[in-house]
Amino acid sequence: MKKSIIILLLILIPFILLSNIDKKGEKKDKFSSRGFIIAKNNNGALLSWKTLTKDNDKTTFKLYKNNKLLKIFDNNEPTNYFDTNYIGKDIFILKIYNDKKVVDIIEPEIVFQKMKNGNNGSYFDIPINMPKPVFMPNGELATYTPNDVVAYDVDNDGMYEFIVKWNPTNSKDNSISGYTGNVYIDCYKFNGKRLWHIDMGKNIRAGAGYTQMLVYDYDNDKKAEVIIKTADGTIDNFGNVIGNNFIDNRNNEGFITKGNEYLSLFDGTNGKVLNTIYYYPKRGDVNDWGDRIGNRADRFLASTAYLDGENPSAILIRGIYTRIVVISYNVVNKKLELNWTFDTNETKNKSAEGNANHQVMPADVDNDGKDEIVLGSLVLDDNGEILHNTTLGHGDALHVGDFDKENEGLEIFMCHEDKDFGISLRDGNTGKILFRDKGPLDTGRCIIDNIIGNNNVTEMVGSHNLVLFNNKGTIVSNWKKDNKDLSIKPGYGINFLVYWDESLERELLDDIQIKRYGEKPLFIGENIKSINGTKSNPSLSADLFGDFREEVIFPTKDNKNLRIYTTTIYSNNKVNSLMENRQYKLQVLLQNIGYNQPPHLDYYLDYSKN
Ligand code: CA
Ligand code: CA
Ligand code: CA
Ligand code: CA
Repeated sequence: MKKSIIILLLILIPFILLSNIDKKGEKKDKFSSRGFIIAKNNNGALLSWKTLTKDNDKTTFKLYKNNKLLKIFDNNEPTNYFDTNYIGKDIFILKIYNDKKVVDIIEPEIVFQKMKNGNNGSYFDIPINMPKPVFMPNGELATYTPNDVVAYDVDNDGMYEFIVKWNPTNSKDNSISGYTGNVYIDCYKFNGKRLWHIDMGKNIRAGAGYTQMLVYDYDNDKKAEVIIKTADGTIDNFGNVIGNNFIDNRNNEGFITKGNEYLSLFDGTNGKVLNTIYYYPKRGDVNDWGDRIGNRADRFLASTAYLDGENPSAILIRGIYTRIVVISYNVVNKKLELNWTFDTNETKNKSAEGNANHQVMPADVDNDGKDEIVLGSLVLDDNGEILHNTTLGHGDALHVGDFDKENEGLEIFMCHEDKDFGISLRDGNTGKILFRDKGPLDTGRCIIDNIIGNNNVTEMVGSHNLVLFNNKGTIVSNWKKDNKDLSIKPGYGINFLVYWDESLERELLDDIQIKRYGEKPLFIGENIKSINGTKSNPSLSADLFGDFREEVIFPTKDNKNLRIYTTTIYSNNKVNSLMENRQYKLQVLLQNIGYNQPPHLDYYLDYSKN
């Protein structure tokens, strides 16, 4: 090739790359991995993109506005920029350099819109298709509201898809009788195009204890698979019926305590069922689990974990209050293949009965590269054997992360429903209790994280006494005595955590508000609602776009959109995309499982690393 042709090509390549960009994102078939966004507010707009682990000291960025260079970002600069002179029609381009060579040229992939009530956030709506109401056998009508959301790039085009669980309004806890409407699971592109729709059918009850959505690339072909417990009458996106559509296993109280139960593998790109096996363990006689209505037999959890350190496995759990069965599967040739089984009915595992939470979290607590399964008081090693068990019983909230800088590795923090109630913080590797505050009553909520700056410790609190401790056990504040803490009080503050402001400390997210500890709201969502009743959590919180700050997703009040909020606050901190942290990513993907919990990194995020 002639030199002049090569030079011409070098000049043209950036334009060829650019010509592929469509502003609505519809024609474009590949997105960058940078999550480059514009977030508008009344003062201008925050431009923000991801810092990635592949970036090195030769990675630099040039931000252009209307073809003029706005700023050069060297390798140690934070990947966000606030443009106070932004007017709606400006065109931004980001050139990414490695050692002074252009490696990518991108336009903002999503433009977030101005909020009416403040300047600390910006939103983007994804239109979704609300299912039609359904009539129950007793004439009751169930309408639909979006519930949990999973964000995952199912088709490997570089952009997240959004998998939505539609909950009927008569969705119920396992302990409550009554019919529930069908649960539907939809997958949407970010522009609202529905990729697929699965109808769980009448033989799956609706409620936080039942349908758990596993979405992941389980066979390393870059496309997602979806694994869900199914039943007779579950229908995939192509109308394929699993089992027998004419069977109705609901009893006159609305409980389902008989009939076939299955585990199905679906193609995550099109919602087609690929493989269905019988669900194991079988429920057998529900009474064997401790009650006649399935409150204990029908408590399901699920997880994705890197049991061998390199490949993802699916973990399915049945039972938390009494018998607990944990089974791992691998996906091989688009089929579910049994790996190992853990069952508390085996004599050696008897002590673990009743020691699981409403959550399960994979984490490499012994630091050998392979994930353990943290079920609450009980932790299973990567091979399905008990690693340790505090025998402190069941709990409603669970946090796994590096919460103590001085204690090597990860810690596990939870609250307790069994006596002596209260909260406990323990060493993830050994299970040794590091801190224990007992309580007078069932402690249904607790949080731990770095919420107060400049002290080298994290803070933790349980709903039993609203005393905020640091991770060394020192009391930071006591609501009952001080009674002036604006952010942790009865009914507020012990819920979710979110990186929203400029700092590396985390803010409190509860219902539709975000607060810095001890301050009035920084952010209040507009025309949206939280989900899961009194749990008041978002559909999802995760670092999806822009820099390390987390986005939060809620349904709009009319149930017609998923609304994604992102921060508009400039940050002087540079932190790698949180989703590149395996533990964080898996915890995000498992937020929908059981009672939702905020995700945690596997390292202590502070200024010393920045
Ligand atoms: Ca995608
Ligand atoms: Ca796959
Ligand atoms: Ca491990
Ligand atoms: Ca972010």
